[in-house]
Amino acid sequence: MAEYDAIILGAGAAGMMCAATAGQRGKRVLLVDHAEAVGKKILISGGGRCNFTNIHTAADRYLSANPHFAKSALGRYSAQDFIGLVDRYGIAWHEKTLGQLFCDGSAKQIVAMLEEECTKGGVTLALGQAVADIDHGDGLYRVTIGGTVHRAPALVLATGGPSIPKMGATGFAYDVARHFGLSIVQPRPALVPFTLGPEEQLFQSLSGVSADVEVRWNKTRFREAALFTHRGLSGPAMLQISSYWQHRTAIQVNFLPDRATDWLLAEKAERPRTSLRRVLAQALTERLADALLERIEVQGEMGALTDKVLRQVGTRLSDWAFAPSGTEGYAKAEVTVGGIATAGLSSRTMEAAKVPGLYAIGEAVDVTGWLGGYNFQWAWASGVAAGQAV
Ligand code: FAD
Repeated sequence: MAEYDAIILGAGAAGMMCAATAGQRGKRVLLVDHAEAVGKKILISGGGRCNFTNIHTAADRYLSANPHFAKSALGRYSAQDFIGLVDRYGIAWHEKTLGQLFCDGSAKQIVAMLEEECTKGGVTLALGQAVADIDHGDGLYRVTIGGTVHRAPALVLATGGPSIPKMGATGFAYDVARHFGLSIVQPRPALVPFTLGPEEQLFQSLSGVSADVEVRWNKTRFREAALFTHRGLSGPAMLQISSYWQHRTAIQVNFLPDRATDWLLAEKAERPRTSLRRVLAQALTERLADALLERIEVQGEMGALTDKVLRQVGTRLSDWAFAPSGTEGYAKAEVTVGGIATAGLSSRTMEAAKVPGLYAIGEAVDVTGWLGGYNFQWAWASGVAAGQAV
């Protein structure tokens, strides 16, 4: 039997941050993971350079059944706080785009920093072994790992969501939460590429083509790059909108977000002898123009086309509807939308209101950020919130 002040399940971004915070407060912490090594998702994040935060972090860049829930933790541990930590370790970083901060070197530096923070907090690690049993009674949680029972008055669920199962991701946090009577907001894959059905196969010819677009679903819109793939649509714009998209609905794409819908009329006046194909190829790239024109079924010299037809072409290009057949699922999803319902948790401490001593943090909770460092910032902030409370 081993005694601790807190047992944290999951040595990912949120779990390590929580463990380091609690440990440095003098708490005895056990950090458990079924993987042999800590922080595996951090290592592959941001193409190996870890997009560790976003300087534009704000609660409105997160999806949750309660859009206000994330405010408290994000407000008390900000992007600047994490940047301060990274700077103290001398890790060089740069802003890539849209407030996204990446390591100049490698994501390994972030994992090494978090390991060092855990060491400073005297955190005990239990890696490479499955949790055999969790039991609760007399104000204590008893977690059995490899035949040993570990006891603590606080248990933190930090095992993330089921995205990328081949990396060891599981729905374990949901199972434990349900066992203790917490509700789960239906999880689904997010920040995930779309697949297109047979009626959109024409676009397969565009595999590898990218375009700067504005993508829209209902009232949500993103202006970023879209990428045609052999299976469908990817790139930051599509990943972003996938988190909002609902099955059997269409997304709208504006292929020319910087142009008014009647821009082709000005082109007609200026160069009536030029073909529509050439005008579009210059605005969009040849491959994309050809694929879209094959669908629009309009051709000829600009001067020979009526204003009405040119307006219709302009409108079509700025409001192109795609109906994805689905997504590439958890196997390719960067994160999971949904999870442990925030209604049952304190936004200050992440503790379950009805189960004293039980906490949930990170991606396991129904708080999901946009692409661009927002998810790690939530992991750090919720980890610190619980780490200060246990
Ligand atoms: P995780 O980091 O997933 O950690 C959960 C831990 O729990 C893991 O170590 C896992 O092994 C362990 N675990 C799971 N089940 C069990 C179990 N049954 N028993 C014991 N342990 C268990 N976000 C960004 O902000 N910026 C990025 O650049 C970025 N890039 C990404 C790239 C990829 C390819 C992916 C998949 C995700 C990326 N994300 C990024 C999202 C980010 O990785 C997650 O939001 C973040 O890791 C969530 O932190 P977490 O601690 O909640 O969960």
